[in-house]
Amino acid sequence: MNIKDPQLFTKDFMEYVQSRNPGEAEFHQAVLEVVETLSEFLIRNPRYIRLKILERMTEPERIIMFRVPWIDDRGDIHINRGYRVEMNSAIGPYKGGLRFHPSVNLSVYKLLAFEQVLKNSLTSLPMGGAKGGSDFDPKNKSDNEVMNFCQSFMTELSRHIGPYTDVPAGDIGVGGREIGYMFGQYKRLRNEFTGVLTGKGIGWGGSLIRPESTGYGTVYFAEEMLNRKGDSIKGKTVAISGSGNVAQFAVEKVLDLGGKPVSLSDSNGTIYDKDGIDREKLEYVKLLKNVCRGRIYEYADKFGVPYFENQRPWGISCDVAMPCATQNEISSDEAGTLLKNGCFVVAEGANMPSTYEAEHKFLDAKILYAPGKAANAGGVAVSGLEMTQNSMRLSWTRDEVDGKLKTIMRDIHDMCVTHGSEAGGFVNYVKGANIAGFVKVANAMISQGLV
Ligand code: NDP
Repeated sequence: MNIKDPQLFTKDFMEYVQSRNPGEAEFHQAVLEVVETLSEFLIRNPRYIRLKILERMTEPERIIMFRVPWIDDRGDIHINRGYRVEMNSAIGPYKGGLRFHPSVNLSVYKLLAFEQVLKNSLTSLPMGGAKGGSDFDPKNKSDNEVMNFCQSFMTELSRHIGPYTDVPAGDIGVGGREIGYMFGQYKRLRNEFTGVLTGKGIGWGGSLIRPESTGYGTVYFAEEMLNRKGDSIKGKTVAISGSGNVAQFAVEKVLDLGGKPVSLSDSNGTIYDKDGIDREKLEYVKLLKNVCRGRIYEYADKFGVPYFENQRPWGISCDVAMPCATQNEISSDEAGTLLKNGCFVVAEGANMPSTYEAEHKFLDAKILYAPGKAANAGGVAVSGLEMTQNSMRLSWTRDEVDGKLKTIMRDIHDMCVTHGSEAGGFVNYVKGANIAGFVKVANAMISQGLV
């Protein structure tokens, strides 16, 4: 391993990661994005290299994979695969969401778990990193089928999690309904009512603001970046992708701060509402997606706006882009189009939504670019606050939690500025987030011996 030249160090380290994890392109991408921003720092601080901290951090502490059999409403049997990647517990119990989506595989979960370790560290709360879920698709399933699946999934997962061990939350395809079914099954199996999952309902251990936290936090982060430049979201046109939990509350907070959200999408296409998605239209989206479980083209039919089938929102002219759907949803070309059309702020609500090339286009253009591990950390931060409330057996008010969320997002922003400031006043938020997240975990690992 070359420990003198940052680029050669990155190259050598990536060869190592690729040879140990063949074919896992998403995981390689996530590690590369971190290593190339850390390499200079590591060379200046060689004890992290000598103690092989990065080699340890890219090797999950534990991976659990299991069979999930369940029965649909017609009586047919289905077999799905369950996963939990417990990546790192140096600073607290494993924490990270469960994703139910047919596109998942081990590489995707490893990418998400690796990002989660650094993200959780940035929140300053005591949480390690994990991610998991299943290739089960909740779309077009009845409530009964989703419950059957969740109960079967939790029957196995319950052996591996616990309030002091691993505390999963929601992610794509896992919202309040799924968390409820899984919590109920855990309680039956263990005969204990504990904070083993976050994202719970308000009447049974959940935290106010948890559903809003990722979307709100992403907008707070964008506002912090703009404020630092003497600007704000007010009056800005904002293109948002996705139409699930994160996207809905990003729209809500953009409206609160006086911006104009103009798009939403799902895996079938994008709606473009040039007059702006107002509160009434947002209520319709919440009903459509969370209750009727419909498709976003229905918005276009209802409000008479354009719908672009099989397209993402990045061709729309905007000041601010907030990708809130999934990984690699902004290609290199789309990043180029965004920049050409005047977009100068990108705040990632989703995890790793920009491809490697897209991310480099944003960095080269020196726009305000916030990577997901910083911008969307509000979700896990409020999950951490939910854990705290569960342990203390009390509930904070909406304003209390929102206030703490705002403070956490501001602190993360400031840490990124501290570690990511470059010549000429440019802040490389990717580098800042990676270094700030890494140092805390690395130092904890060193203190705990060879772990
Ligand atoms: P939801 O399931 O509520 O919504 C996901 C949205 O993204 C849906 O509109 C979905 O469309 C769309 N989507 C999912 N997969 C794809 C795909 N392959 N191609 C195109 N569109 C897709 O999930 P969340 O809103 O919770 O999560 C969105 C993103 O935010 C994810 O990257 C997640 O990891 C990240 N995140 C979420 C947090 C949370 O607290 N929920 C915390 C931090 C990050 P469709 O319905 O058609 O699939």
